[in-house]
Amino acid sequence: MTYVVTDNCVRCKYTDCVEVCPVDCFYEGENFLVIHPDECIDCGVCEPECPAEAIKPDTEPGLDKWLQINSEFAQIWPNITIKKDPMDGAKELDGEAGKYEKYFSPEPGKGD
Ligand code: SF4
Ligand code: SF4
Repeated sequence: MTYVVTDNCVRCKYTDCVEVCPVDCFYEGENFLVIHPDECIDCGVCEPECPAEAIKPDTEPGLDKWLQINSEFAQIWPNITIKKDPMDGAKELDGEAGKYEKYFSPEPGKGD
C-alpha cells in the first residue's frame, strides 16, 4: 500500500503535504507533486494536511492511473521537502475537473 497524489494537485503547490512527511518521499514536477510508492511508509499524515484533498490511499478504488503516474514521475523528478508558495491561480482552479488532462506538465520542478 501507498498514498498517491491525484488530479486536484495539478497547479496547486500549496505544499503543506511535503513538510509533514517523515520520510521525505514527495517529488516535484513543474505543476504537480507525486509520492514515491516504494518510499512511502503509509503513515497517512499527509492526507489531512492537503487542503485540496488530492492525497488518497491507493486502497481506494479507481486509483490505478494515479499510482502509475506517481510511480513513474517519482523516479524522474527532484525531491521536495520544504514548503513553497502556491502556484498562481491555485485557489481559483481548486476542484476543477480534469486538471491532469488540461494542464499537467511532465517537466521537472526545481526541488530543494
Ligand atoms: S497540498 Fe495537496 S494539492 Fe497541494 S501540492 Fe501538496 S499534495 Fe498537491
Ligand atoms: S503517507 Fe506518510 S510516508 Fe506516505 S507520503 Fe504521506 S506523509 Fe509521507
